[in-house]
Amino acid sequence: MRYVERYGIDLRLGSKLVAVDGPARVATFERAGADGAVERTEERFDMLHVCPPQVAPAVIAASPLAGAGGFVDVDPATLAHPRFANVFAVGDVAGTSNAKTAAAARKMAPVAAANVLALLDGDRPAAAYDGYGSCPLTVERGRIVLAEFGYGGTLTPSFPRWLLDGTRPTRLAWQLKSRLLPWLYWNAMLKGREWLAAPAAHPGRGA
Ligand SMILES: Cc1cc2nc3c(=O)[nH]c(=O)nc-3n(C[C@H](O)[C@H](O)[C@H](O)COP(=O)(O)OP(=O)(O)OC[C@H]3O[C@@H](n4cnc5c(N)ncnc54)[C@H](O)[C@@H]3O)c2cc1C
Repeated sequence: MRYVERYGIDLRLGSKLVAVDGPARVATFERAGADGAVERTEERFDMLHVCPPQVAPAVIAASPLAGAGGFVDVDPATLAHPRFANVFAVGDVAGTSNAKTAAAARKMAPVAAANVLALLDGDRPAAAYDGYGSCPLTVERGRIVLAEFGYGGTLTPSFPRWLLDGTRPTRLAWQLKSRLLPWLYWNAMLKGREWLAAPAAHPGRGA
């Protein structure tokens, strides 16, 4: 919020972009008031930067795999489908409430792998996903807030706070994001070598 103030951002939470008239440079927003009545407003813009709503691919949303929101219906911990026992989902397409990030997919993959192997052995799920996601918030050149959190907003820092405080903007987080993580993603995650994302044991299975 200090950055919002420093940059003079007119923050209007709860506003939904519903239409854009490109040639006229007018964006239309809807916002529900305290009484629930929806107010429509038009804003002129010089530049519009839009994040589209997150939706599942049509092929998934229209399939029996989909849950209510269109994403693959899975148990939030085991990542197993509740109706199709041999189906697991990881990444953005999984219908879990974590922040949809590559960092989340990185932690989900070993959990799903462990549980697929357990299933193939005729066993119960062995591993649980805690909802970990990581959102590197670039607040200025050279400083990032490396926000890491799990289900329910629980802080899940990868580093001790004295080294890297994930609740504040730091230069170290910038270095990590710009230098170390690309190397890690390419040489470890995408090559299937992952020594920093060991799956946690499922609570029902003990340590
Ligand atoms: C601008 C931006 C910045 C981001 N920054 C970060 C960040 O800093 N850190 C971070 O951790 N995450 C970040 N993310 C999120 C991250 O990119 C995603 O969470 C991650 O890519 C999800 O991986 P995925 O494999 O689940 O899905 P995807 O990467 O979306 O892969 C799905 C693949 O399936 C393919 N596909 C779709 N339909 C079909 C079909 N019918 N048949 C065959 N193939 C199909 C798609 O083409 C795609 O290649 C960012 C995302 C965006 C958009």
